[in-house]
Parts: sequence; C-alpha cells; structure tokens
Amino acid sequence: MNWPLELLDFLLLTLDFRLWTLELRLSRMAKILLIEDNEMNRDMLSRRLERKGYSVTLAVDGAEGMQKARAEIPDLILMDMSLPIVDGWEATRQLKADKDTSGIPIIALTAHAMANDEQKARESGCDDFDTKPIELPRLLGKIEALLQRGAAT
Ligand code: MN
Repeated sequence: MNWPLELLDFLLLTLDFRLWTLELRLSRMAKILLIEDNEMNRDMLSRRLERKGYSVTLAVDGAEGMQKARAEIPDLILMDMSLPIVDGWEATRQLKADKDTSGIPIIALTAHAMANDEQKARESGCDDFDTKPIELPRLLGKIEALLQRGAAT
C-alpha cells in the first residue's frame, strides 16, 4: 500500500501534538500534601490521588504537616482535623497566619458530619470542607475547583 506522504505527515504531526499536550499535563501535575494520622486512610487516599495524576506528599501529624507545607509549598493541602501533636484546626490557623503558606488552599477532612464542624473548619481558615468516608468524585471536584482558583490568580 502506498500512503500519500501528506497523510503520513499529518499522522506524525498529530502524534507530536498529543505527546506535547501529555507533557504539558504532566508538568502541571499538582502537588498535594495529605496530612492524615490514620495509616489506612492515608495509604488509600494517597494511592487514589496518585492514580488520578496528582503528586502526593504525606505527613502523619500536624507538626510534620506544617513543616512539610513550609518546606515544599504544595499546591493544595488535605488536612485531617483530628491529628496528634498539633490538631488540624491549629495547624490550619498557623499556616494561614504565615504569609509564606497562607496562599495554599486547605480542604478540611473530618470523620463526623457534625453541624458545627464545617463552621469550625472555616473559622480556622480552611478553604473547603469534606467528610469521611471520602467520596472521591466529590473530593476531586473540590480539589479541582480550588486549584483552578489558584491558577487564575
Ligand atoms: Mn485523624
């Protein structure tokens, strides 16, 4: 079969374009800091986020979370509220009070959907709030909304 040169040219160009957009997507892979003390929740959520293309850094308590937030300036933080050493509310307050980290969006995660939990999280400076057990599509929607808000400013 004799393929017209134009067709081959076109196919190569298309392939080139697809590789280029893939590269662009990977280079923009957002970095998420997940601060969660429960090992099972941490492993499961981090694996699911990585499968969606995010780069995930982990911290197991509030103190380590603040330290990693300052050292790595992630694009977004998922903050469990009930944490050892420094709890999620206090860690959020401190990160939001520091000009180096105040711009990082924080989504609070709590185990119970108590009516005042969301209000408490927002008062400490969290940008959004979600409850466990995690429903991934719902959480991804909140993550993407905050990342896009950050990209637009
Ligand atoms: Mn916890």
